[in-house]
Amino acid sequence: MKTIPTINAGDTLELKKPHPCGNRLFRVSRVGSDIKIVCTLCGRALTLERVKLEKMIKNIIPSEN
Ligand SMILES: [Zn+2]
Repeated sequence: MKTIPTINAGDTLELKKPHPCGNRLFRVSRVGSDIKIVCTLCGRALTLERVKLEKMIKNIIPSEN
């Protein structure tokens, strides 16, 4: 049984595919049926469907706070 990843606002996601700026780390800004993530390097925001984003995640780094 595959574990469904839990994505929370404030978490940092490492994606399999890098952003055009070369960075792979994105901070989760808003979670709903769509998830808004912000590139930690260039600051651009992306909004993705949850199902699409889940397939792109390599690793989830939970928020410390
Ligand atoms: Zn970027």
